[in-house]
Amino acid sequence: GDMFGSLKALPADPILGLLAKYRDDANPQKIDLGVGVYKDEAGHTAILDCVKKAEKYRHDNEDTKVYIGPTGSPLFNDEMSKLIFGNHKVLIENRARTVSTPGGTGALRVAAEFIKSCKAGATIWVSNPTWANHTGLFEAAGLTVKTYPYYDYENKTLDFDGMLAALKEVSSDDAVLLHACCHNPSGMDLTNEQWQQVAEVAKTVGFLPVVDMAYQGFGDGLDEDAYGLRLIADSVEEMIVCSSCSKNFGLYRERIGATTIIGSSANAADIANSVLLSVVRCIYSMPPAHGAALVETILNSDELRHQWYGELKEMRDRINGNRQLIVDKLIENGVTRDFSFITRQKGMFSFLGITPEQVQQLQDEYSIYMVGSSRMSIAGIANSNVDYLAQSIAKVL
Ligand code: PMP
Repeated sequence: GDMFGSLKALPADPILGLLAKYRDDANPQKIDLGVGVYKDEAGHTAILDCVKKAEKYRHDNEDTKVYIGPTGSPLFNDEMSKLIFGNHKVLIENRARTVSTPGGTGALRVAAEFIKSCKAGATIWVSNPTWANHTGLFEAAGLTVKTYPYYDYENKTLDFDGMLAALKEVSSDDAVLLHACCHNPSGMDLTNEQWQQVAEVAKTVGFLPVVDMAYQGFGDGLDEDAYGLRLIADSVEEMIVCSSCSKNFGLYRERIGATTIIGSSANAADIANSVLLSVVRCIYSMPPAHGAALVETILNSDELRHQWYGELKEMRDRINGNRQLIVDKLIENGVTRDFSFITRQKGMFSFLGITPEQVQQLQDEYSIYMVGSSRMSIAGIANSNVDYLAQSIAKVL
């Protein structure tokens, strides 16, 4: 047969290409600001100590690898729903149903297939810009993707008026994707007052809010980062939250996340849950168990949970510290352009706001790697490289 003969090669993921170039670069001063994973001062993505301890515990205590079922681990799901919602009424009213998923990506795909079950060809609105994979995975699930204004590149801030105006015009049977915190790629988050306004529009218009929370605890704190989605849950009957344990537990390759569906009543949530389980069965049948086992072990132990809070805070403080550090160093190196917006943004990324030519020049002449949009991964900055980074930026400006 020649089924594959009709295929045309697709371009490689630009970030993976960047990573390969970085690896091959012999310059000892090279800096990777491309890939979106947390790194410590030494540029290493270490396994959290609480995870190491949980792994030891699992190793000593697990006695079966039998199937876990499409829901995944009920204990993990319960702990995740509390992490997301705290003591919110949606839990007290028994309106939340959570399934463990293969990472945040799996959570989003499950959500997309679930939305398709509600309405074939439904439209989902995503921010402009958004995480590159959002569009592809929603379209792959058969949804129509449209964008609402979000980042104002010119003024390096949120185009909140544009966003709100667009959300007022969406249809009541559309879905709207919102980033809970640490917006990828802009780092620009909504203020509490802006969340309040979005919650009001969600209620008036009646669209389905779908919240992607891939960085809970990386912005201002675990509860602070969930403030907006909890506010929305105050005022709407139905919503979906997709969360990831990749960043905040450093479990990237274990592939663990969760999809949480909020129904208008306990009974509606049960019906939605039955559809959710059927969606899971038809994609991957059951989620991987190991990452969930680690997370539930940590969250269930007072000692490990507190250790995790500390390790999470350390990652958060380092990222926020790096934001101030690079802005200070740019000033120190005579840069007069205002980069203070970087300190007002949150999470792993900011757009430096330089031209694609300048991005290329940083790469070719200074071995500094970021994606063409000038999105830089803040965790790649360290005390050991920040002077060189600031000097190099100063030279290409
Ligand atoms: N959503 C956003 C906004 C992300 O940035 C990412 C990961 N970079 C994900 C979802 C998916 O995360 P995971 O690796 O857990 O699939």
